[in-house]
Amino acid sequence: MINNKESVVPSNFIRQIIDNDLKNGIHKSIHTRFPPEPNGYLHIGHAKSICLNFGIAKDYLGKCNLRFDDTNPEKEDLEYIKSIKNDLIWLGFKWSGDIHYSSNYFDEFYKYAIELINKGLAYVDELNPKQIREYRGTLSSPGKPSPYRSRSIQKNLDLFKKMRLGKFKEGEACLRAKIDMNSSFIIMRDPVLYRIRFIRHQQTGNNWCIYPMYDFSHCISDALEGITHSICTLEFQDNRRLYDWILDNITIACRPNQYEFSRLNLQYTIMSKRKLNQLVKSNLVEGWDDPRMPTISGLRRRGFTAKAIRDFCQRVGVTKQENMIEFSSLESCIRADLNKTTPRVMAVLNPVKVIIENYNEKNTETLLIRNHPNKPEMGFREVPFGRVIWIERNDFREIETETYKRLVLGQEVRLRGSYIIRAKGIKKDKQGKITTIYCSYDMDSLGKNPNKRKVKRVIHWISADKALIAEIRLYDHLFTIPNPDSVDDFINAINSKSLCKVQGFVEPSLATAKPGQRFQFERIGYFCLDSKHSKPQSLVFNRTVSLRETWSFD
Ligand code: ATP
Ligand code: MG
Repeated sequence: MINNKESVVPSNFIRQIIDNDLKNGIHKSIHTRFPPEPNGYLHIGHAKSICLNFGIAKDYLGKCNLRFDDTNPEKEDLEYIKSIKNDLIWLGFKWSGDIHYSSNYFDEFYKYAIELINKGLAYVDELNPKQIREYRGTLSSPGKPSPYRSRSIQKNLDLFKKMRLGKFKEGEACLRAKIDMNSSFIIMRDPVLYRIRFIRHQQTGNNWCIYPMYDFSHCISDALEGITHSICTLEFQDNRRLYDWILDNITIACRPNQYEFSRLNLQYTIMSKRKLNQLVKSNLVEGWDDPRMPTISGLRRRGFTAKAIRDFCQRVGVTKQENMIEFSSLESCIRADLNKTTPRVMAVLNPVKVIIENYNEKNTETLLIRNHPNKPEMGFREVPFGRVIWIERNDFREIETETYKRLVLGQEVRLRGSYIIRAKGIKKDKQGKITTIYCSYDMDSLGKNPNKRKVKRVIHWISADKALIAEIRLYDHLFTIPNPDSVDDFINAINSKSLCKVQGFVEPSLATAKPGQRFQFERIGYFCLDSKHSKPQSLVFNRTVSLRETWSFD
């Protein structure tokens, strides 16, 4: 068996089919494809399909094509093609050979349509789209044959050519397969194969005014490219009958098979490109790459790594079971990756001032702090320390409780990588809000525990003197309910608080951070320098994910 499974990839029913096909000599090598329609950006659902198709090609030393399914001239855009290529490469995959476009095969599709007409298996119908729908029947009632169904082959050839030459208006005629108006599968009740559209196509210009339907073009494209396993999502299960019917009735060398798996549904997100496009067009998000979007580009801008997305796709697996994946499953994949790879830094998001009264006003120090607790190879960074520092407002309380393990009036706490301080007094404003905490420090506690007492509590801090101000963007789910597709209008389920911008302080070491660079803000979460809005003088960080599921800001 041809196999390149260096890492342990869990098997699934599609891989078992492939294993059997190889064992039984049905195929000698494996060829898959990923066929996006260029009418939007890729989302995390596509990533599942990408990992499956490209993953199979990689593990079986086979090939995977990238094919833009661009038979629909209406919605396609070069921007989408560019972004799809870019996202695929970023995810760590590369297509075999050249990029394919379904529109490259328009001549072939036409030729195969003529073949079907010549075999008496297709006819030009002049019912209008509404009548076609009515004649088609329903799940409980059979269809009714069109009065144009029994035209002669010659007449059909003539009319199809007329269609191609633009002699009919849109909707006046279409080409239909002649299969079975009584089939229990509605898709088999003489499906439309070609329709008329007077629209300029991005790749073929005005060469065509008839365009093939997905079911007709897809199976032929697969066969022309020598695809062995054509993998798609479950909603195409019934279409498989048509896929097989077309390939069985035309003269074509290769005979691919279609297999369906369940699509990825992720809580609090929508996956339909049409709906995502609606969010973009109506400015409900900043664009396709808004960090709240479930798109690959949105996740990337938010700070997700390609590895975390691939791990997630592997974790959800490939089955025929419809299900809804918990959002926390995606979050735990990104945490696991970033925990290993990101340097630690300190940031204070909701600051309160601390004055260390026994620290000499004229003094400052530069402390060396480890970039990663378990990875000495990641080195140290310089962190300035001085008399006035910022700490997190929720890291201080006037009164001790049993579960509160931070700074309390009269008690000690260690400042991460620095000294132990003791809170001695506070100052409040007229509203009773604490404005300053007065502390003392133990000058003998740097890098060591003091004699006779243990201070286990640790909090993070920033030197007020050298702090950089940063805008920190905290994201919540884009929708308020786990399944926004379940309500009449998903727009009503939008979470108006999905983005919260706060001003915080970060260490000066972040002045040189690069767009897209990721960090762990100690005790808070993983953050990434925004690639669109951040400037050296005004840093903007996106929260990728909090450190724990329960972290709250106040
Ligand atoms: P959308 O409804 O978002 O427009 P689509 O299926 O029309 O999705 P395509 O561009 O046609 O989008 O999809 C390319 C490939 O990605 C197809 O093989 C499709 O089955 C797969 N795919 C799309 N969405 C998902 C998903 N949520 N889970 C798994 N695979 C998906
Ligand atoms: Mg589609």
